[in-house]
Amino acid sequence: MIALMLGSTGQHVQVLQLGLSRAGLYQGELDGIFGPHTDEAVKHFQSICGIRPTGVVARLTWHNLLPYIRGYRVVFSRAGYTLWDMAKQYGTSTSAILTANPDLDPMHIIQGTRVTIPLPFSLVPTNIGYSWELTSYIVDGLIMRYPFMRLEVTGYSVMKKAIYSVVIGDGSRKILANSSHHANEWITTPMLLKFLEEYGQAVAMGRGINGKSAARLMENNTLYAIPLVNPDGVDLVNGVIQDGPYYRTSIAFAGDYPDIPFPSGWKANIRGVDLNLQYPAGWDVAKEIKYAQGYTRPGPRDYVGSDSLSEPESQAVYKYSLLKNPDISLSFHTQGSVIYWKYLSQNPPGSKILGERMALASGYSLEDVPFISGHAGYKDWFILNYNRPGYTVEMGLGESPLPLEQFNNIYTAGKSILVEAMS
Ligand SMILES: [Zn+2]
Repeated sequence: MIALMLGSTGQHVQVLQLGLSRAGLYQGELDGIFGPHTDEAVKHFQSICGIRPTGVVARLTWHNLLPYIRGYRVVFSRAGYTLWDMAKQYGTSTSAILTANPDLDPMHIIQGTRVTIPLPFSLVPTNIGYSWELTSYIVDGLIMRYPFMRLEVTGYSVMKKAIYSVVIGDGSRKILANSSHHANEWITTPMLLKFLEEYGQAVAMGRGINGKSAARLMENNTLYAIPLVNPDGVDLVNGVIQDGPYYRTSIAFAGDYPDIPFPSGWKANIRGVDLNLQYPAGWDVAKEIKYAQGYTRPGPRDYVGSDSLSEPESQAVYKYSLLKNPDISLSFHTQGSVIYWKYLSQNPPGSKILGERMALASGYSLEDVPFISGHAGYKDWFILNYNRPGYTVEMGLGESPLPLEQFNNIYTAGKSILVEAMS
């Protein structure tokens, strides 16, 4: 995290405001503007933490805010300290603590035992911009709050950021879901993260999700959820990358495409390659089509790269898929409220029926991909390689990046699609 102070703006400030509001010290909008209210809340927070109240948010203040961002803190139990004492002290429930610490014997907490305390708020924010760093804190929070989830790393981006996969369940049906191949479609990242949180909660509480028993879903399915395929691109779109060599080259690439707004129109990875035109399924055809449309060099979108799988992000997802050998894949994009299900005329067994069910559940329509955009995408490769149901889900409606006002609708649709795929 970078140092912030009065006058700072941007996604980092939104994360700061999120932490302060969860700490109960900030009531304003999470608008990313470090104004007098944020300043006051920061100083208040600093004095509570025993930090000199300068209003400057540097390493120590971030460190103290971290539990409010990742949703838990770690404590060591004192002598005679009970589960109920801990729950009371942190305003959380005993059941949340037991979920996070499955090996803890509530009748016998030995002094000095390390205990994860889930803090009493929803973990996944749905009202601020996303970055790779925020995503890192959230996936950490998910596996700490719900230890039946596990975290894997599929590979690393151009700028060496981990591309995570959160795995839940150990059932025989394997489903791989991925979000944010395209940078300015990042709203699909909190969609998938929120789903993991709700799924985890439902499992922990023995509840259902969309009327299906969460425990049963977990028994029957293994879900591999890759929430952020394109971390550098999302950081660029959300203003987290604002200098350095990669920023300068991306600006230069964008300069070749003056009609595409920068950075909000950016779909590609940080090297200007469209990650969903990278897979070995008609890559040469995609190249021919995109070149004819004028996308012949790195840019904000539609450049296929120097070769298929030339980029570390698409390589990571490709290799991870081969390793996990999924039965079903779901790739979340924006926009159109459409589910695409075929590769050319290839329609894998069971694919149409599941597609129709997902369409019915979400209110999206099931459609064939137009030939011109039907090559070299993840779904295309998945269907070609496995002949199993693979879908591209175009969420929401409007111009990407879609506003967060659409989040609830997008989430509801995404949840019903994920639950349907697991049912
Ligand atoms: Zn897309």
